[in-house]
Parts: sequence; structure tokens; C-alpha cells
Amino acid sequence: MVKHIFVTGGVVSSLGKGLTSAAVGMILECRGLKVSMQKLDPYINVDPGTMSPYQHGEVYVLEDGSETDLDLGHYERYTNARLDRFSNYTTGKIYSEVIARERRGDYLGSTVQVIPHITDAIKDAIRAGVAPGVDVAITEIGGTVGDIESLPFIEAIRQFALEVAHDDVMFVHLTLLPYLRASGEMKTKPTQQSVGKLREIGIQPDVLICRTEQPLTDEMAKKISLFCNVRREAVIEERDVEFSIYEVPSMLVKAGLDKIIARRLGLPAEAETDLSRWNRMIDDMRRTTETCEIAVVGKYTALHDAYKSIYEALAHAGIANNTKVKIRKVKAEDYAIHGAALIEGVDGVLVPGGFGERGVDGKIMAIKDARESQLPFFGICLGMQCATIEFARNVLHLPEAETEELDPATPHPVIHLSPEQDNVHEKGGTMRLGGYDCALAPGTLAHRLYGTTHIRERHRHRFEYNNAYRARLEAAGLVTSGVFPRRDLVEIVELKNHPFFIGVQFHPEFKSKPLQPHPIFDGFVAAALAHARNGGRAGKPERSRA
Ligand code: GLN
Repeated sequence: MVKHIFVTGGVVSSLGKGLTSAAVGMILECRGLKVSMQKLDPYINVDPGTMSPYQHGEVYVLEDGSETDLDLGHYERYTNARLDRFSNYTTGKIYSEVIARERRGDYLGSTVQVIPHITDAIKDAIRAGVAPGVDVAITEIGGTVGDIESLPFIEAIRQFALEVAHDDVMFVHLTLLPYLRASGEMKTKPTQQSVGKLREIGIQPDVLICRTEQPLTDEMAKKISLFCNVRREAVIEERDVEFSIYEVPSMLVKAGLDKIIARRLGLPAEAETDLSRWNRMIDDMRRTTETCEIAVVGKYTALHDAYKSIYEALAHAGIANNTKVKIRKVKAEDYAIHGAALIEGVDGVLVPGGFGERGVDGKIMAIKDARESQLPFFGICLGMQCATIEFARNVLHLPEAETEELDPATPHPVIHLSPEQDNVHEKGGTMRLGGYDCALAPGTLAHRLYGTTHIRERHRHRFEYNNAYRARLEAAGLVTSGVFPRRDLVEIVELKNHPFFIGVQFHPEFKSKPLQPHPIFDGFVAAALAHARNGGRAGKPERSRA
């Protein structure tokens, strides 16, 4: 029998519900259980693929090509759950399925309604998210309880609980205890009200996880317990972490969440939650004294969530290299005005993916400066495309070299629209998405980093390297180190006479985990650390784990 945990949130958004859900998954895995992870998002877009990172943060891409919410990134980084298109549903996806069925005639004769048709479709989606062999399925409901748009989801999980045994389902509610500086008090009223909202629909939370700035006193916890009808021991503190978000799982275990879940769901209670490897990692991080600094030259630098997985992957590589990775966010548009002064003193430059014209000039300038000054460089997706354009302009002397994304009539489309995109007119879910194989050329930096010649990475792009320029680019020194064999499509470019210069068409950041850093990020941070140790001059990495 699969057990289900539903995670809801109250009071405000951005409480870290995704991270907390992922931590719950991880804790259960550390008790030897197999988990699945799922997110239900109340907005009407069918997926977040068509939203701007300003709206929604990064779009996280799964192996099967699904474009999903960035919380799925937390799930993959913290757990071993296998995620696919059944792992993220939105209102739009649910409604389009129901409407398609209605048009097919599946409901002939009946009025199609939110209850039961939409709620039934949500319950089907919850069941579809459970992979074979899973012990516990964790489903996070996006948004905040009390929102109009999340109502059908909350109603569906209430019905879901009604249809299975009492100890097969539990509800975890994440809330905020605001601290009022003026009166020096923590307030429980918003929590009471948000639990009230849940109970109005018929859901009694089993666990309250309280986000707080200040310690949760026993007195306060008793008050919350009484007013919210949740047992005292199930009122759990999740205090703002001082050092790293990686502390969240052990904090929850210290508060007894693992035992409470096991007891409530009738799971083996005697099992130990073994977080030792994880805790050792955090201890090592605390002892780290060295630092290196990476400039991320991007379009959406104002928003931390826009490049979430990249910042995470840099941190993972820092753990592997025993160094703190400081990140300097440089707005690409500013680079076009102020130039290299903005990367003064950094040990590496990373240019992330992106869409559209804004910031591209600045990215290309930053790449030129990194190339010429032997500064470690890592380009991802648009970053790789910009590296190719920069090389064509400044080394091949084709000043008009451009990507067709910015100028469809350019005389030198070194990056062009993929021929696969010729007849694609719709924007949703139509890019080259998800996992594709890549063959690495022996003896290249890419081959050294991965330690193998066959890799598979995730993609999200419409434009690509134009093979019509390949011979010339290669002759001038832009090495092709990885190709997608079926179409001989260039996926990785690098430079020979440079300590570390690599551009990849795919998104390696989606496959990095705290204890399994991605080999390119690992190598990039090793190169940056060598640069830092060398007093800010090009240095040779002493070691690369890859
Ligand atoms: N805009 C580019 C393309 O569509 C790059 C996409 C990206 O960086 N994710 O090919």
C-alpha cells in the first residue's frame, strides 16, 4: 500500500514549501523508504514553460522533456525520486485533459463540473504520480490555502483522504509565525486562521511546520496545538537557517518529524533516520576556509530564483572542492556599459541560458574578456551560443556573425534555427526538450571532466550551432568536443590554449546534487579555485574529482 503525504502552505507564499517537501522526502529515504515527489500548481498555464523567469523563477526541465516548476529541482537534488511528466500538474493541464475528454464525448449526457470532474482528474493525477514500488508519495500543493485558485486541489486531497484508510494519508501544513519587532513577540494568529481555512474545507492537518525567525517556545507551541487542534509534538519549528539550507533535513529530524510521520502512517517505527553522510557534508562545509568568486553574467540577475539550479550546482562544486563559491551577479546589460570593471577580481565567468536580445551584447563582451584574459569560462545554452558568436566575430573576423534568434536575416548565422523547428509555430512545449545523448571527443576537456565518452544531458532550446561554419570555426581553434550523434549536432565547444573555457548547449545544472556535483561545474570551480590561489592569475587546477 502506498502512503500519501500532502503538503500545503498557509499565511504567505515563498515559505520554502518546496524545500521542506524535498527534505521530508529525503528524511524518509534515509529511513530506507522509497518515495515519489509531485507538485500540483494552481495557475492556468499548462506548464511554466511559457512564463518569464521574472514571474516564476527558473523553468526546471526533466529527463523526459517536461518543463516544470523549480521546486522539482529541490526534489531531484534531495531525493532519488524519479520525476517525469506526472510529477507536475497545473490547473491548466488538469482542465485541458477534462475538456479534451468532454469534446471526445467521454461525459456524454452529463454536466461537467469542478466537483466531481475536475477533482476526479486531480485525484487521477495524484495516483499517476506514484511510481511502481514507492512506499510514500509526497504531493505538494502550490500556492497558499485560502486562494481562490487552489480550492479544487485542496478539495481533491480532502476527497482523496476520504477514499483510503486513515493511516494511508496525512496532511502537513507549513505556516509562518511572524515576529513583530516593535512588541518583541511572535504571533500565532495568522497560523490559526490558515489552519481554520483548511478545517473549513474539511482537512485537519496532522503536522504543522512553523517557519520562524525566533525559537518556538513550548508555551507558544502549546497555544498553537490547542487552537489548531494539532498534537503538541506535531507542532514543529523550522527556524530560518543561519548557515545553509542543507540544515533543514536535520533540523526537522531533531524536532522529531521522522518519528511522527512513521507513527501516523504506520511505517516501521524502529528504523533509524541515517543522515550521517549528509551531516558530515555540512560539517565539512563549515570548516571550509578558502573562497573563489564566480561572476554570473545574465539577464535575470536581480532574481535569485531565475538561475536557481546554476547557483545550487556551483555550491555543490564548492563542496567537492572544499571551497566557498561566492557569486557576483552581473547584469549583462550593465556589462555592455561598464565592461570588464564589473568582473574585476573574479575567478571565473559563467554565462547562463536565456532568450531574446536584451543582455546579449554584454554577455558576448564578458566572454571576449574571459577568453582573452585566460579567466575560467563556462557558457550554458545561450551562453554557449554567445561564445560561438564571439569567437566567429573576433577570431574568425566575421563581425556580422549572429544568432538567427536576434537577426533572422544575418549574413553569418553561426547559430541558426534548428531545422527541426521549421514547421513549429506554437510556443508551449515545442523546443528541443529533455535528455539527449552526446558523444565526447577523446582527449578534450569535456572528456577529461566526465571521464567517459558517452553522456546524456537535458536541453531546452530552439536555436543551435550551424554546421555550415564548423570547419572554419574548428580551423580557427574552437574545438568541437561533444556532438549529438544522430544529427551530428555540436553540443560542446571549448578552447585549447586556455585554462578552462567550455560552452555547452545543454543544461548540466539540472543534474547536479549536493553529494554528486556535476563534473563540468566541479571542473569549473576547481579552475576558479586555482585562479584564486594563484593570486587572481590563470592557474592550473591541482585536482579535479571527475
Ligand atoms: N534562446 C536560445 C535558444 O532558444 C537559448 C535557450 C536557452 O538558453 N535555454 O536556442
